[in-house]
Amino acid sequence: MSSQKTHADLAEKFNQAAERVSWHDDTLWFVRQKRDNAARGVEDWEQLREIASAIKDNVLSRLHDYLVEFEARAKENGIQVHWARDAAEHNSIVHSIFVKHGVKQAVKSKSMLTEECHLNVYLEQQGIEVIDSDLGERIVQLAGEPPSHIVLPAIHKKKEEVGELFHKHLGSAKGEKDAQVLTETARQHLREVFLSRKIALTGVNFAIAQTGEFVVCTNEGNADMGAHLADVHIACMGIEKIIPKREHLGVFLRLLARSATGQPITTYSSHFKKPRPGQEMHLVLVDNGRSSRLGEESFRNSLKCIRCGACMNTCPVYRRSGGHSYHYAIAGPIGAILAPSLDKKEFADLPFASTLCGSCTHVCPVKINIHEQLYQWRQVLVQDGYVNKGKQLSMQAMKVVLSSPSLFRLSGKAGRKIMNLAPFALNHRLNPWYKQREMPGVPESSFEEWYRKNRK
Ligand code: SF4
Repeated sequence: MSSQKTHADLAEKFNQAAERVSWHDDTLWFVRQKRDNAARGVEDWEQLREIASAIKDNVLSRLHDYLVEFEARAKENGIQVHWARDAAEHNSIVHSIFVKHGVKQAVKSKSMLTEECHLNVYLEQQGIEVIDSDLGERIVQLAGEPPSHIVLPAIHKKKEEVGELFHKHLGSAKGEKDAQVLTETARQHLREVFLSRKIALTGVNFAIAQTGEFVVCTNEGNADMGAHLADVHIACMGIEKIIPKREHLGVFLRLLARSATGQPITTYSSHFKKPRPGQEMHLVLVDNGRSSRLGEESFRNSLKCIRCGACMNTCPVYRRSGGHSYHYAIAGPIGAILAPSLDKKEFADLPFASTLCGSCTHVCPVKINIHEQLYQWRQVLVQDGYVNKGKQLSMQAMKVVLSSPSLFRLSGKAGRKIMNLAPFALNHRLNPWYKQREMPGVPESSFEEWYRKNRK
């Protein structure tokens, strides 16, 4: 494992503010409950999940064909299509469009792909100013932080903190914490930005092979404001966002917002099919490790993800450790699957940041077996030597003990003795398990001994 901070280190930092942890936990659980209510309101919810999963299975089995079909249709529509092998190529394609138009400023709506590619940082290094127009994204941008959640990027921030940021950067009154006033401040600020930017960047939620159009879902209408007012619209999408036909869109739109926030549908589900007269529309299709993930049988169906965030809202570890502890653009259970396939060394800690309770799998609208993949990743990472020596040795020792009944009995006896005679052998600050917990009382006998004695 690399020397950088791990999920455990970063979670410990988040946990220092106990009040924030409880509030983060409660807020996300509230969203999860809204999702449950919304799901219960759809009679054929489980069937809808099955259908979505089957459509995505079909897409993954014929991804090449659908991409080729999509490219041909999109070009016929007048969209300029680009292909990017990785994040660096994606960033340089986007930059070349800015250079071609001699533009140094852009407005951007939310796109997890551009976060994955660190596009904002790259463009800033090239002297281009990018203003995020999603309210949550703008808040974290002003704070100099990455989003901590894929749907609710500033969910870790309190309104008092937002008030401070707006006072510092947007000139609102000191101490202002009224959500409506702060939202109005952001509206006025973003209005200026929308009206003055020549290039708008957006993500893509779904791209339809049959028609060559793409769909962007927002609750604030900010993608539409940016794209409709700018001379150039650049949309960036991961290659897995393809769906075969328009008729499939309804399945995903019904699932997406309900799973994300408990809404029946996102406020704006905008179709972009061709540039308006005089406008240029570019679409960058990005691989960045996706095609190699397609070849990994155990992990390929993580490519079905529609980025609803439901697995994060329900995850007991995510809710109590915060999105930044995952040190990857996509946090939570799905991020912990996607990240190690990009870099096993850097993200080897993430699949272990899970209780494997299965709640993520239970809520996933496209039926990704998330907790099983996390368990699978742990095995791969141990086998490939990406977990620390201490963990490897203790796992080896457990394997020996648990596969021998006599050794298991003996070690149980020894353990009970040690805990009685020298409890400090375990109850000390160097034992990370003990740090947060009371040690259980020592039983007099093992269950086996008790059972033998009491069997009638
Ligand atoms: S893995 Fe499933 S639940 Fe998690 S974000 Fe993706 S689609 Fe939503």
